[in-house]
Order: sequence, then C-alpha cells, then structure tokens
Amino acid sequence: MIRFAPGDLVAVLTTQPLDRALDYRAPEGGCGTGDFVEVPLGPRKVLGVVWGEGIGGYDLSKVRTINRVLDVVPMRDEMRQFLNRAAEYTLTPMPAMLRLATRSPGLGSDVSMRKVYARGSEEPDRITDARRRVLDALAEYGDLSFTLSELSEMAGVGSSVVKGLVKQGAVIERDTPRDAPYPRLDPDLPGKTLAGDQAGAADMLIKAVASGTYGTTMLRGVTGSGKTEVYLEAVAECLRQGRQALVLLPEIALTSEFLSRVEARFGAKPAEWHHGVTQTERRRCWRMVGEGNSSLIVGARSALFLPFSDLGLVVVDEEHDTSYKQEDGVLYSARDMAVLRASICKAQVVLASATPSLETWANVEAGKYSALTLTSRFGDRAMPQMRAIDMRGEDLPGGRWVSPSLQGQIADRLERGEQSLLFLNRRGYAPVTICRACGEMIACDHCDARMVEHRFLKRLVCHQCGETKPMPEVCPSCKVEGKLAAVGPGVERMAEEAAALFPDARVEVLSSDMYQSARALKARIEAIAAGDADIVVGTQLVAKGHNFPLLTLVGVIDADLGLQGSDLRAAERTFQLMRQVAGRAGRAERPGEAWLQTFQPEHHVIKAILSGDEDGFWAAEAAERKAAGVPPYGRMAGIVLSSPDIQAVFDLGNHLARIDGPLRRIGAVLYGPAPAPIARIRGRHRLRMLVKAEKGAPLQSAVSDWLAQVRIKGDIRLSVDIDPQSFY
Ligand SMILES: [Zn+2]
Ligand SMILES: [Zn+2]
Repeated sequence: MIRFAPGDLVAVLTTQPLDRALDYRAPEGGCGTGDFVEVPLGPRKVLGVVWGEGIGGYDLSKVRTINRVLDVVPMRDEMRQFLNRAAEYTLTPMPAMLRLATRSPGLGSDVSMRKVYARGSEEPDRITDARRRVLDALAEYGDLSFTLSELSEMAGVGSSVVKGLVKQGAVIERDTPRDAPYPRLDPDLPGKTLAGDQAGAADMLIKAVASGTYGTTMLRGVTGSGKTEVYLEAVAECLRQGRQALVLLPEIALTSEFLSRVEARFGAKPAEWHHGVTQTERRRCWRMVGEGNSSLIVGARSALFLPFSDLGLVVVDEEHDTSYKQEDGVLYSARDMAVLRASICKAQVVLASATPSLETWANVEAGKYSALTLTSRFGDRAMPQMRAIDMRGEDLPGGRWVSPSLQGQIADRLERGEQSLLFLNRRGYAPVTICRACGEMIACDHCDARMVEHRFLKRLVCHQCGETKPMPEVCPSCKVEGKLAAVGPGVERMAEEAAALFPDARVEVLSSDMYQSARALKARIEAIAAGDADIVVGTQLVAKGHNFPLLTLVGVIDADLGLQGSDLRAAERTFQLMRQVAGRAGRAERPGEAWLQTFQPEHHVIKAILSGDEDGFWAAEAAERKAAGVPPYGRMAGIVLSSPDIQAVFDLGNHLARIDGPLRRIGAVLYGPAPAPIARIRGRHRLRMLVKAEKGAPLQSAVSDWLAQVRIKGDIRLSVDIDPQSFY
C-alpha cells in the first residue's frame, strides 16, 4: 500500500461509467491506495477507491480534493489485482467491475451505531412496579445489554420507563456498532464418519488447503455420494488455518437444509450472501468479511466479490450449473473467476459436481486441475435405474403427454404411498397460443418471441422481456372470437393432465414463477420433501440439490427437448440435466427409477444417459468439440449489437466485419453479422457476431483492438461475451 500526504495527486476509480480513473488531491490526514473515499464529481458526491498515484497531464488548478476517507477496511491489493485481471479477461470497464465489489448498502455512511441499555450503578429515587420489572429483567441477564425495544418488551413496560431510569443513572445507555461479528465456527466438532474413498478424498483436500498454495480440484461424485461431507472437511481445515472459506451454490440450492448441515458440522450458522438476504444482513456480511469477523460465507455467485481479508478456500458446488454465468451487466463465469481469485490469493478451489462441465474435464485432462472421484453412494443406495419409453410405440391421443407406460408407473407409486416427479423444462401452461381460425400465433409486441400462457397468473407472458397481458377473447389478427387454443405442454398443463389421470392424488407444480419469493418457494419444497404431495410436476429448478426422500419415480416428459436447437452445449446440458433429475429419485432406503419419454431412443446422448456410461459420453463429446475447434478446445467471443434502429445495427455490424484485421492477425475467424436467434427483445433489434479462435490465441486483446476502431454512437449497445454460454 502506498501512503499519500495531504494535497498529493492520487487516481480515484469511481463506480461511475467513465473510461478511466480521475485525479484528486489527497484530503487532510492523507490517504492510501485501496482507501474507500467520497469524491466530488460535478455537483454530486460519488463513491470511489484510491487506485494509485495521480495520472496528471492537465490543469492542476482544477483538481478537486477528496471529500473524506470512509470508515471501511481499505480494499486489499489482492482485490484490486483481481478486479483488474477480471476486467481484462471479460473486457469489462473497470467502473462496472468496481460496482460488483461495492454492493453493500450504506457503504458511504458511517459505521452505523445503535443504542443499547444495561444496568447502571445508581438506584432510582423512587421505585415503581414498572421500574422494578426493568431492573429485574436486567438483573436476570447479568452484564448483557439490550436495545430499547427488547428491554421494554422483556419488562412489559413502555420505553419512557426505561428512559426515566437512564436519567437517574439506574440504567445506562451506550452506543455500539450495529453490525455484530458472526459466531465462531468450530472446525473440531466431530464430523460425519467418512467411508472409503470419501475419507481419501477429504485427506487430499485437507493437505491441499494446509499447503497454503493455489490449486484447483474437481470433486466428482454422483448425487448422494457424500460430496458435501467431503468438502466440509476442507472447509474445517481452512478454518483451522485461520483463513476464510467461501461456498458458492446455485441460488436455488441455498436452502435451510444446507445451512443446517453446516451448523451441525461447525456448531454455528455461516454468513449468507444472496438475493434472499435482507439489506441489514448484507451490510453486516460485507463489513464482517472485510474485517475478518466471518470465517465461512455461503452464497451465490456475487459472493466472489466480497472483500475477504484472507480467503483460503472456494468451493463451487454444482459447478456445471448455468446460473454461475452472469448473463447481464458484467458477463462473467463465477467458476472461472473463482479460479482467478484463488490463484491471486493463494487459495484452493474445489469444483464439485455429479456431472462436471466439459471445461472442467478438459482442464483436468490438461493437468491444470486435480481430480477426485467418489464412487460409493451413502449406504447401499444406487443411482436410479434409467429406462426409455419409446414414444413411437405409445398410444397417446393429441393434447396429452403422459404415455400409458408412464401412467402405469405412477399408479404403482401411488399405491405404495411413494412420490413421483414429472419433469418438463417449460414454465407456464402452454408455449404457444394459436388462433384456430387464421393460424396466428400470439407474439410479444416488443420481442421476436411467442407469448407463453400462464393460467396460474391468468396472463400471457413473454419469457424474453417479462411483458404480460391478459389472454385476449378475440384473435388480435382476424378478430374471430373463441378460437384461441393452447398448443404444446408446459408444467401447468402437465399438472392438469396428472390431476385428470389421478383424481385422488395430491398434485403440486414446482416452478419458479409460481411463488412470490424465494423463501416461499423453499418452504414449499421442504413441505413437499416431507410428503406433502403425491405427484410433483417441476421445471429444472427441482433438479438442483433438493432432497426428496419419498420420491422413487422420475418421469421425464420430453427427453428430446434439450437436444433441439444449435447450442454447442445442447448434448452436455441434456446429459447433465437428465442425470441430475434422475438423481432426485431413490435417495432414501427405497430404490428409484427414471423413465425417459423419447422419440429417438437411438440418439447417442439418450443412449449415454440410459447406459450411465459417463466417461464414454465425455470422451465422445470431447472428441466432437476438438474436431470442431470449439470450447473448451477453442475460444469464442460473442458480440451482440442492439438498437431500436434496425439500419443502424446493420450498418455498424457490416462495418465491423470489414475492419476485422486485428482478429485475422491472431488467426481468429469472424462469423456474422446475422440477426440473433431472438432478433428483437424489448423493441431492440439484435445482431450477433461470433469470433472463433484457437485455444492459445490472445483473444481478448484482439477483440479489444478490433472494437477500439469504432465509436458506439446514439442508441446502439454493444456487448462482448467472452466464453459465451448462451447464444440467443
Ligand atoms: Zn385469428
Ligand atoms: Zn417480450
């Protein structure tokens, strides 16, 4: 850290969308690199971080002075280095990167204090019944202090009684910081007994963490193989070393069930960082992590940007999960950024999954990551039996999707008092609403996308922009009444069919859009896991990490769904999703079965899913991608241009295609411009371009040089996605 004397010229990076750091003069008392500061910018005051020495080169008399240094632990060198490198990797402007690292409410305000009350040394001049109750309440808890509302409630008195006692010195009032440190976690409480390869894997991870160096390990194990127990031992070692550990989970897997497991292992709950956390708790978490007063954080991808004082371990659970890729704002993969941050602060990374991504496999193959595999499932449970239902041989009337074979399986489960899951990765009632009079399909007014009927919400919803409208009575095109019809199945329609087939069964839909809050959804999932439904109809959110002990049948309504389309990861995602969904069945004492409805049982992906030959599947998939030179054996950058003005985007796209010299110099190839698969979203026309390069090519610098040749004007937006995961 460099110290600057008052009046010295320093560069301050702010969160404002400027293309560079700005010069300011150090305030009275001086400042140092990494200090969080408040600076004047035009008429406003904005948040910034002292980034280094001033850049100079302009009228020094106009340089303004930093207003004040904030009372926050300064940003560490490690964090500044991480943000710089993450910005270079993702081609993100630094201010946007800094915003990710300053997502704490009230960062600019002083450490928030609150008043607490404890017993004072004086006696009151006269004692009333109410006063007696206050003093008794305090006596009961010895030296503890309480907030005004806590104390009044405990004593059953109004707050004026307490205030009266303060005036007399019988009760004292003190200020304490509002944010309390988190309870200490005890790594030496007895963990679960680990058996066989679990014990071996835990030992390897413990050694790695104890080494105090950087390393990444893929921890692979089928659902229920004890992955969590194994990586919690790595967390325990990290705590013993006095360093901090971060466990990243897909947002939806952040269940109280998981937190309870952590509590059972370490005797206290960890800090949490995700969308369901209150503003107060976020502020506490951000500060305590920075001050080293929180040793284990469990969170969603953005937790990676918390100001850790000494990060020693990052676990990325369900590392293959697509929600680790942020798809708007700063486009980054939390998995890759975890590896980057760990390599800077000498931490270990554990990438845990039952079905690791091909990227991770490739890094293991290349010797960059270590690999640990857990084979045994807890107890004698086995991965469920996987079977195909060949839909070409099923007698099924139009408008129905549960085959007679699958129906028979569900009936068996109902008889035995077990749960069934019908899996369909489509929210809503029906994906298409068509007019039977004129053939018009109802589309979103702002996007090039069909509106999806949601009967539960009683609306049509655009899944691209979120626009909703009521179901029309008459066709918007031909004005004929009563001819609009639902085409194709969504989960709501599946639930209707299940209820019609099994009128006595309790049918429940689990879809993210049907609950007001993440908390309500989680509560419902827990009730269902406890037996509060017979047939569950769910989207992919049921595939993520929940335990359903009574579930013994998974019926996949359309196993072919994910294989349509041209996404390069279609096979990989289908394989992973099917294995994850199937893994929900038979997790307790009862064995499970998964039945896949498919029109193409001979498709190589379907065959690989059925046979469970994971290594064979990955080898074939890797060979295919190697031959095509696509990730992870080649590199890509996705460019999206958008504007309300269709001519303007095409002009810019064509111009960029003509000046592709910087790309050609590294041997990269530019594809497009072409209209994006969804050619219009929220009224903006979209063009896609794709840059493909060889694995070792300096892709970022070439793309950066290429784009630096143009100025983006007017209402055009350009986004760059390095290592894109989606191509819509
Ligand atoms: Zn019509
Ligand atoms: Zn829309």
